[in-house]
Amino acid sequence: MESNRSATASNETAMFLTRKAEFSASHVCANPELGVEENRRIYGAAANPNGHGHNYIVEVTVEGEADPLTGMVFDLRELKEIVNRQVIEPMDHRFLNREVPPFDRIVPTTENLAIEIWRRLRPGIDRKNARLKNVRLYETADLFVDYGGES
Ligand SMILES: [Zn+2]
Repeated sequence: MESNRSATASNETAMFLTRKAEFSASHVCANPELGVEENRRIYGAAANPNGHGHNYIVEVTVEGEADPLTGMVFDLRELKEIVNRQVIEPMDHRFLNREVPPFDRIVPTTENLAIEIWRRLRPGIDRKNARLKNVRLYETADLFVDYGGES
């Protein structure tokens, strides 16, 4: 048995299950600690204080073993409920900087958003035979971030 693999992947039956979901949200990419000119230099048009929107796509990947009884890595309805409750409901059609903590304090870049989604999802997903493996967040069709937790 290889020792460098995760606990849930300790045998050869580990699989990756991914659920996809969409939400629309607006944001301003600007650090309140920096001035207007500095923010515009760093973030360009994304620093416009009136905000702009994205149709985000999030892909949540769970690693685990298929239960011999159910044939499932994770209950699909439960996974959908967790994603809806922790991510879609609080973020969909919101102005992230004003309505969704911690983005009143942290710049809601795609990177920071992926980290926050991970933090919101992990407690509900991690269990004996399954764990949150990756959060992939698409800001546009050709730009995405992967976050797999702190190493
Ligand atoms: Zn943006």
